Amino acid sequence: MKVTIFGTGYVGLVTGACLAEMGNHVVCVDIDQAKVARLERGEIPIFEPGLEPIVRRNHANGQLEFTTDAAKAIAHAQIIFIAVGTPPDEDGSADLQYVLGVARSVGRHLDRYAVIVNKSTVPVGTADRVRKAVLAELSERGANIEFDVASNPEFLKEGDAVEDCLRPDRIVIGSSSERAIEMLRKLYAPFNRNHDRTVVMDVRSAELTKYAANAMLATKISFMNEIANIAERVGADVELVRQGIGSDPRIGYHFIYPGAGYGGSCFPKDVQALERTARSVGYEARLLSAVEAVNHDQKAKLFDFIQHYFNGNVRGRTIALWGLAFKPNTDDMREASSRRLMEALWAAGAKVHAFDPEARDETRRVYGDRDDLVLCDNAYQALEGADVLAIVTEWKAFRSPDFARIRATLKEPAVFDGRNLYQPEAVEEAGLAYYGIGRGRSV
Ligand code: NAD
Repeated sequence: MKVTIFGTGYVGLVTGACLAEMGNHVVCVDIDQAKVARLERGEIPIFEPGLEPIVRRNHANGQLEFTTDAAKAIAHAQIIFIAVGTPPDEDGSADLQYVLGVARSVGRHLDRYAVIVNKSTVPVGTADRVRKAVLAELSERGANIEFDVASNPEFLKEGDAVEDCLRPDRIVIGSSSERAIEMLRKLYAPFNRNHDRTVVMDVRSAELTKYAANAMLATKISFMNEIANIAERVGADVELVRQGIGSDPRIGYHFIYPGAGYGGSCFPKDVQALERTARSVGYEARLLSAVEAVNHDQKAKLFDFIQHYFNGNVRGRTIALWGLAFKPNTDDMREASSRRLMEALWAAGAKVHAFDPEARDETRRVYGDRDDLVLCDNAYQALEGADVLAIVTEWKAFRSPDFARIRATLKEPAVFDGRNLYQPEAVEEAGLAYYGIGRGRSV
């Protein structure tokens, strides 16, 4: 099928590449000229495992094209995906300027029937706003062209995005148009060969499904962090509690890891946006507010631990930091817990020696060159000249370090484990003090 995708970010590029891989002819359009130029040269602007070969192969055989020319891209398509960003507004609601910008552009250039599919995470009611924006432009041109607007929220996880896209758990299609549903079913048929994963529903339910999924996942994390904070105060180990509750199949082991808070481009903004949506219809979403508040405090925990360890004064100290990305297998730093920690350390007069396997360039892009940040080539280099070590991202490479070497290199014998990667005893045997999240050991 002929598909156009607006936005070549994590969602747009991965979706475009996977749809091209299945034999569709995909045109990816972005307003960012530099990004499109890089993609044209075969450079992938983001780190996402497995993405590069699929993009390269399909670009080389003409199945996947990149352009900044919206008119050309719209003329190409039977199906037009909107996969642009929906960042938070000043008040936390989703900013729809990019989504509605694409809708207007579609209205200006559409010349025959197409299905416009919202893949961006958007508040309930956005499909109606997209429809109105397209109609306004069509009527401006005096054009009478049929189109449908559908919702098809994206559930991929950064770091596993290609795998998630090729083998989705579910494909949610929100539409009341049989024609649109049939076209989307046809497009997704190759992803459904094993069994039908499609869940068809009305547009509003589809829009809410995405927020409900992310809010549920964020709630699981904040819930475990709350239990961790209690565990810390009563002398229990939350890691044992986690295993104890995960064995109940009604609870399960997934997504109940305590830690230094969730970040990323989705959970923080989507929880906030859902809360604002609820408020706009007269409902106070108390649970969501608490999820957010717990996470906000959790992101301060490592700094509080470190500051307490140094008797309230970290000025002049150097902290080694392992992990900068908001989670492993990505270079994405949006809302990363590492940022809160680094910014708090800098504000208090400390320096940071940081290492991340993929997020180094992104960190430099975000913070520029500064005297109080050294970006290191490897994990052990970050320890040189550092007082203590803090771990913020659970990259596999950090899971089994040489504790004796850590002990020998650090000036002070302390490890602050923001992801509970280590057994406290193993760290302590090397002569290091261990501080994890909810491990029954207070600083
Ligand atoms: P992103 O910021 O990585 O990419 C968005 C892209 O859209 C940018 O390249 C930007 O230049 C482009 N863009 C903006 N306006 C445009 C226009 N008028 N025409 C063409 N391109 C335009 O965003 P992302 O992380 O891919 O997220 C996109 C949407 O998908 C968001 O709503 C997000 O909430 C949702 N989502 C993201 C993830 C994720 O893991 N990142 C997962 C599921 C859903």
